[in-house]
Amino acid sequence: MKDMPTNGYVASRALKFQVGFLLAEGKGHASDSELDFPRVQVADDLILEHLRGTLRFSRTSEGILVQGQLETVLPVACDRCLQEFSLTLRFEVEELYIYPPRPEAEFVVHETGILDFAPLLREEIFTETPMMVLCRPDCAGLCPECGQNLNEAQCECSKQQTDVRLQALQQLKERLED
Ligand SMILES: [Zn+2]
Ligand SMILES: [Zn+2]
Repeated sequence: MKDMPTNGYVASRALKFQVGFLLAEGKGHASDSELDFPRVQVADDLILEHLRGTLRFSRTSEGILVQGQLETVLPVACDRCLQEFSLTLRFEVEELYIYPPRPEAEFVVHETGILDFAPLLREEIFTETPMMVLCRPDCAGLCPECGQNLNEAQCECSKQQTDVRLQALQQLKERLED
């Protein structure tokens, strides 16, 4: 099947690699694959942009060892101001795909020699993404009163609050003076 772009991204089957030839070879053989996807759907809940890097598949006695250095861009929303921005992630992967497949193993090479990199990639992305993502370290967030993005402009709420506080202070002062 061809990887037809749908809505500008390639489907996750582009992350399936045929490693049957490596299984047939002996221990110690390896093969490299270059990844370069402008947009790729990794899972139903995950689309990555600019996924780049090299994956090395090495035949071991237990299966195929996957190692790689990858870089990608994840579209995220800032936890403070909700603005969408692109988070660049650089990470390494290293995982053994068991062959022949065993039901209890999380990552296996399928009987047909197919190694599906997508589930491992998804797991890595969730591990690498910080719990709190901020568009910038000093993001001012949203005004809790009116929802104004305080990175873009000040709203009237903080001024009014100051006015109210000043007023209260003024009244207190007057009372004390009486
Ligand atoms: Zn922000
Ligand atoms: Zn406000």
